[in-house]
Amino acid sequence: MRIAEIHLTPVAIPDKPLLNCKGVHQPYALRTIIEVICDDGTTGLGESYGSIKALEGLRRAAPALRGLDPFHLHELKSRVAAALPEGGGINARTAVADHKLTDVVTSAFEVPCMDIQGKMLGRSVGDLLGGAVRETVPFSAYLFFKFGAHIGQDKDEWGEVLTPDQMVREAKKMVADHGFKSLKVKGGVLHPDLEIETMFKLREAFPHHPLRIDPNGGWTVETAIYVARRLEGVLEYLEDPVAGMDAMAQVAAATSIPLATNMVVLEFDQIAEAFTKRAVKVVLSDHHYWGGMRASTHLGKVCEVLDMGISMHSNSHLGITLAAMVHVASATPNLGYDCDTHYPWVGADVVEGAPFVFRDGALAVPRGPGLGVTLDRIRLAELAALYEVAGVRERDDTLYMKQFDPGYERRVPRW
Ligand SMILES: [Mg+2]
Repeated sequence: MRIAEIHLTPVAIPDKPLLNCKGVHQPYALRTIIEVICDDGTTGLGESYGSIKALEGLRRAAPALRGLDPFHLHELKSRVAAALPEGGGINARTAVADHKLTDVVTSAFEVPCMDIQGKMLGRSVGDLLGGAVRETVPFSAYLFFKFGAHIGQDKDEWGEVLTPDQMVREAKKMVADHGFKSLKVKGGVLHPDLEIETMFKLREAFPHHPLRIDPNGGWTVETAIYVARRLEGVLEYLEDPVAGMDAMAQVAAATSIPLATNMVVLEFDQIAEAFTKRAVKVVLSDHHYWGGMRASTHLGKVCEVLDMGISMHSNSHLGITLAAMVHVASATPNLGYDCDTHYPWVGADVVEGAPFVFRDGALAVPRGPGLGVTLDRIRLAELAALYEVAGVRERDDTLYMKQFDPGYERRVPRW
């Protein structure tokens, strides 16, 4: 059996005006839906970034994968590397971190190949990753400060969230809707004293929920140490308080709160430095840029050996990605934290039915075969049509923020 055809469909997902230290989410998040079709008709599904550099990389690598055995994942990686010799990253200049194009493209095609393998064998992707060690995968509520509405649109159902009390209201709705047992706040948006107050108010409203805050490197070392000292005993972990490995190490040395990252450890090559400098205690995995689902479980093993914790990162995504995340999480034994997901913010999907319902904040592992999700062609066509009219080809939260506030400038650190 060999790969015969690959279809790449860019889609746009309606998104909410969620704030972070570099701006605000645009009205649409972009994704690419991947279908890999073998010569016997078996089809594997994948989902990756939809920004223009990622999409162009996928388009350039796809022809090189024709004729590949979908079990030969090492060869997949070398064919992708050969097809994209210039390498480089995928993100806009204003993004908080960049990801290697070759890793992103390899990851994007690994998922459908493993979906095919599972379908051939009648087994789930989780089984191919070593077998699920948990039947359900817990997720955290991903809480954002936000504007009430996009420019030119009516207020959305979440309304404006720009104060600590409004954040508590958002958290209560998120927990009531999905049952999440831990809470993560996207920080770096308000003055640090207001974000500290937010965490104390969340602690009061949810005395037993582990709490995290992630300002995406938006604080100075001085600010981060100040916040960490105020929040000792309150936070489960502090994610990327500052930008850069050395700055993270400085903060880590000054607090007992574990520091987590998806900004200074993005590749296997960076783990040794983070370990040596004691900069990070928790690494966030993400199969979209770590090299795929297998590589993500390998990351789990590396973290276990180094006595680091492992959690899971998320970008705005649809159900194919969610299925892959759940399989990876189910087969990463030392995953010790509730995973991040933007899924509750996304009111659309490309998979059939409604396979993902959070119960007590957790998702059941899809039974498969493969990923265990099926493409809904009508939904895919709708979101593909939205991509054509959306007029967005690259995520740029800073550019969109300037439409709300013409004087806004990206500053790292901001506080
Ligand atoms: Mg993060």
